[in-house]
Amino acid sequence: MHSPQSLSSLDVLNQVFGYHSFRGEQEAIINQVISGQDALVLMPTGGGKSLCYQIPSIVRAGTGIVVSPLIALMQDQVSALKLQGVAVAFLNSSLSFQEVQEVEGQLIRGELDLLYVAPERLCQERTLNLLHQIDVALFAIDEAHCVSQWGHDFRPEYIQLSILHEQFPSIPRIALTATADESTRNEIASRLDLVNAQLFISSFDRPNIRYRVRQKNNARAQLLQFISTEHPQDAGIVYCLSRKKVDETARWLQDQGVKALPYHAGLSAETRQQHQEIFLREEEVVIVATVAFGMGIDKPDVRYVAHLDLPKSIESYYQETGRAGRDGLPADAWMVYGLQDVIMLRQMLSNSEAIEQIKRLEQRKLEAMLGFCEITSCRRVSLLGYFGEQQQDTCGNCDNCLEPVESWDGTTEARKALSCVFRTGQRFGVSYLIDVLRGKTTARIEQFRHDQVSTFGIGKELSEVQWRSVFRQLIARGFIEVDIDGYGSLKLTEQSRPVLRGEESLFFRKDVTKTKTKKTARRNKSGRVAGEFSQHSEEKIIWEALRVKRNELAQEQGVPAYIIFHDATLMEMVEYHPTTVHELSQINGVGATKLEKYGDEFLCVLNQYE
Ligand code: ADP
Ligand code: ZN
Repeated sequence: MHSPQSLSSLDVLNQVFGYHSFRGEQEAIINQVISGQDALVLMPTGGGKSLCYQIPSIVRAGTGIVVSPLIALMQDQVSALKLQGVAVAFLNSSLSFQEVQEVEGQLIRGELDLLYVAPERLCQERTLNLLHQIDVALFAIDEAHCVSQWGHDFRPEYIQLSILHEQFPSIPRIALTATADESTRNEIASRLDLVNAQLFISSFDRPNIRYRVRQKNNARAQLLQFISTEHPQDAGIVYCLSRKKVDETARWLQDQGVKALPYHAGLSAETRQQHQEIFLREEEVVIVATVAFGMGIDKPDVRYVAHLDLPKSIESYYQETGRAGRDGLPADAWMVYGLQDVIMLRQMLSNSEAIEQIKRLEQRKLEAMLGFCEITSCRRVSLLGYFGEQQQDTCGNCDNCLEPVESWDGTTEARKALSCVFRTGQRFGVSYLIDVLRGKTTARIEQFRHDQVSTFGIGKELSEVQWRSVFRQLIARGFIEVDIDGYGSLKLTEQSRPVLRGEESLFFRKDVTKTKTKKTARRNKSGRVAGEFSQHSEEKIIWEALRVKRNELAQEQGVPAYIIFHDATLMEMVEYHPTTVHELSQINGVGATKLEKYGDEFLCVLNQYE
């Protein structure tokens, strides 16, 4: 790249990136920055943030400086851009002194469109001096929420980035994040001195992600069934709360023949690096991980994110599930959740040593998360509503829309459950209470003489599973609280009084435990399904042949397959079957450099099936 003649942003989009048109607010954002103004961009994961600073860096004179917190991510982005013919380099601690000097030389000579730097490197005297000697096209601050001290990704180095404004007041700055909430946004604006920047907030909807929450009965078996029926050949992420559970689940999946790898902060840096690398480079790999895994995972073809434990907030849930389907093809957010999760999280919160104010905040976030699990209406409407986006219509792509939930009048049952908690002295856990309700005479029940209380045996009409569902919903909805004694004793809350007095009726959701094995189709825009052609059809054969070619090239060059071409691009090749260079150049995702580099090889494959 780095051609002296001026290209318009649309030219760059077409020729360099091979895309036909801008998405959403990309064009407005790009124009804002090209005109020299600041911008603060809130866009969901997969929304297309990178182009918002890459294109202005190419179009404006000088080098665009991109601050990015993650070295691994930086390297991937840089290799992808190089394949697209962009003059780009990075500066971080992984480089040798000689390599650093080389990059600095390119920078001084004005050869670079873009330079990626780690924040601590940027703030060094040496780097700042260097930047004062060159033309800077813009500063892009990626993952800008890292400046927020309250957030989970806080990076102290980000605080120092205010010096950019002080030292380079005339250079446009663009800060980008996928974190939507207002307090984080305000913190970014004030800490980075972007109060006067134009704010661009995109819709946070990810229409290609299908949200599903199942009742947990045997989580592993449910997970295996989900993977084997819906995603046998796909890459996915499975989140668990604890390291131990991560290890166990990964091992178990391996025993079942699934290519699963663990990832958590207890593994050595080397192992983590290795597992992440395999996940990025190979297909069909499942990463089982704690929340330590994810930020900056740029893999576009993750087809599902599964949660075996409940995340602590909707923000975390949304961020984690957002790692699925960045390529825009259909993907699944799948979660199993049950009574035990509710009890455990409630306990963790009551035991938390955080100051009262933070505890209340955590409490509210958990409330919202539980509400989301129990909701009977459209999950997407609820999620977006949480982020302040009002939606008129239900989505048709979540479990509640696809299989409407039945509810039942559980007023009587709720009263029975609540009075059983009361009659037994608010000192017992769920299993014990259910035994009392169902009239079971265990040694413990006899010991406490609870076979004598008025609620003994009054709940025989429901099974144990049904009672667990009632208790779960009562706890989730705040009628019962879990004691901090560590034994899971249940206590009544103020809110339960009107129900006990018969002044309030309660409706419960009827739980579904079975996963319907409707496959999530990997449809592209014209309704075709990626890779899902009928066996032995010519399309299937071409698809496989294109994939083989892609893998071959990826291996040769030591990059992940998607960096060569995305699935969506291969799908279009199958569909439109281009046979000339010109036709191939019309396919979305085929830019000039890739056309030159790989065009012949892919045409050669395509032309075998004319
Ligand atoms: P984000 O950083 O917001 O998570 P990316 O910048 O990684 O998202 O973009 C997500 C995906 O969408 C990438 O694969 C990118 O190539 C693709 N993409 C971005 N903009 C466009 C566009 N205008 N047309 C087609 N694909 C696009
Ligand atoms: Zn819906």
